[in-house]
Amino acid sequence: MKKYYINEEKKISKLLKNKSLNTSNKVIKYMYEDLKLLSTHINETTKQNIACSKGCSHCCNTRVEITEPEAVFIYSYIKDNLNQEQQNAIFSKIKEITNITSQMQTTDDHIKLQIPCIFLNNQICSIYEIRPFICREFHSVDLESCLNCYNKLEKNAGALESNKIKDSYYRIFRKYMHIYRENKLQISGNEFLSSLLKIHETPNYIKNYFSNLK
Ligand code: SF4
Repeated sequence: MKKYYINEEKKISKLLKNKSLNTSNKVIKYMYEDLKLLSTHINETTKQNIACSKGCSHCCNTRVEITEPEAVFIYSYIKDNLNQEQQNAIFSKIKEITNITSQMQTTDDHIKLQIPCIFLNNQICSIYEIRPFICREFHSVDLESCLNCYNKLEKNAGALESNKIKDSYYRIFRKYMHIYRENKLQISGNEFLSSLLKIHETPNYIKNYFSNLK
């Protein structure tokens, strides 16, 4: 298999032996670095027609899932980079949205709501460099299918994705998640905004996550 990642498993594994916010955030940063490199490689070499492009954001109006260490990473980014006023605005908006989505019985009900992601700004992702894995791996090969799927809510609207590309992304993702599991850190996936809110509202959430006390 062609090597299109830069961060070696050994190095990451050693780093995460020290279970802390700092090391985990570094590991997620490395994962996103590797995924970015893969993305460049795919863009340069694929013969498939990728429909995704800047400003196209149909898939940002749906339910987004995230793993726990990624949620912790993005939460830390918000805390470190936004001022108090911006943080208050974000978490009050997240609360508003999750009050609605938590009433939904099924994932499909949530998807049908078509609520834009709070990080979507003028159809552009405002956290593009640190967006979750799930937002990276999706590659539509048919714009029409996306429109049918996300705007008209048709099920099985057509061949949306390239499985070959998806597999390459998941290979890298699984490598990283395996290291978290080896270090007995939870990686369970949850809905993006409710994960951020849970971290924000639960006292000692991050400390307990790294002590495996959560
Ligand atoms: S994080 Fe960015 S890419 Fe992902 S759903 Fe939100 S706006 Fe879209």
